[in-house]
Amino acid sequence: MTRFKLRLTTLLIAFCSFTYAQDFYLHCGKILDTENGKMLADKTIVVSGNTIQSIEDGYKNADGNIEVIDLKNKVVLPGLIDMHVHLESETNPKQYLERYTNNDADVAFNAVGFAKRTLLAGFTTVRDLGGSGVNIALKNAIAKGSIEGPRIFTAGKSLATTGGHADPTNGSSRKLMGNPGPKEGVVNSVDDAKKAVRQRYKNGADLIKITATGGVLSVAKSSSNPQFTIEEIKAITETAKDYGFHVAAHAHGDEGMQRAILGGVKTIEHGTLMSEETMDLMIKHNAYLVPTLTAGKEVSEKALIQGYYPDIIVPKALEIGPKIQNTFGKAYKKGVGIAFGTDAGVYQHGQNAKEFGFMVEAGMPAIQAIQSATITNALILNMANKLGQIKTGFFADIIAVDQNPVENIKILEKISFVMKNGKIVKQ
Ligand SMILES: [Zn+2]
Repeated sequence: MTRFKLRLTTLLIAFCSFTYAQDFYLHCGKILDTENGKMLADKTIVVSGNTIQSIEDGYKNADGNIEVIDLKNKVVLPGLIDMHVHLESETNPKQYLERYTNNDADVAFNAVGFAKRTLLAGFTTVRDLGGSGVNIALKNAIAKGSIEGPRIFTAGKSLATTGGHADPTNGSSRKLMGNPGPKEGVVNSVDDAKKAVRQRYKNGADLIKITATGGVLSVAKSSSNPQFTIEEIKAITETAKDYGFHVAAHAHGDEGMQRAILGGVKTIEHGTLMSEETMDLMIKHNAYLVPTLTAGKEVSEKALIQGYYPDIIVPKALEIGPKIQNTFGKAYKKGVGIAFGTDAGVYQHGQNAKEFGFMVEAGMPAIQAIQSATITNALILNMANKLGQIKTGFFADIIAVDQNPVENIKILEKISFVMKNGKIVKQ
């Protein structure tokens, strides 16, 4: 190589490292190893670009352009993952009117704030389980770095059947109801089911969400009746597989839940009226329960406020809301796999970590609750070698708190440091 070429190469390397993200040494007093539940002491995490380059013993001295971050008095853990959020919306008494008054741009501007709040709460990755499709644009804007928010895996629009939970025209006057089909996520046959999945792929979704039973917050009578045939569910999961998508199923009622599990879905959302037989089925088919305990508490409380929800919703919220935590406790004890998820949007965004306290209250040890929000969720997202651990080669998604969360789980509601993708967003 000539001297000129050498100098050019050096210049190029210097330029690239200058334009790319800053390199960091994080001096960590304690690191929670989420893989085996152990606490490591006095380590330096070397972050280069968006990746954890290495984890070294002691506090490594920095030279040149490397910035040292002092986390010696903190407990450091990998960024948290919430498997059930709705970043397009947030509960408020006017929410049902806003469906008719808000345009996509209004939804998008609101979502920017919800996404940022979620990230600052230590949730560096989320699975968005359904909105109008603005959630796909949101994901792309965050990935490009145009706005700050968690890494998003999104379902785009949820799939429902006519009049089912997530039929976008439920509760409309008949003049406005129209006849939404698979393009809008409403399916009524095996063919529709396949078409709806392929449309989600075309739209830019990463996974599929179905509403296997009625739900609490839809303007419809039943909270729990089965709403898909098993043939329709199978058509969805099999088509989803062609695109590398997994399928999440909203379900409160037992029959719909069983059809979903037998039909091949990966996660059951809420799981409220799950029988012991269904718990066994979950274990047998390696399906995971996403508890959403925070949402259960929230709807039970808000249903008591006169006029907060439309009348048809109130009895459903009062019936379903209080049962979720109890079912979760039973399912956990029986050995059902648990994937941390909260249904943020049904309550205020940024309070996702309250879920940990409710899980521990129901009998799950704190370390396992943390593992469900890191290791387990990374596995389901097919990101087990990139997310959920502080390990060489993983994304630099790193958070810190002032106390050991295994001893005081509530401390996760007060995150003091957040790094996502090698960039500090809270310090
Ligand atoms: Zn939801």
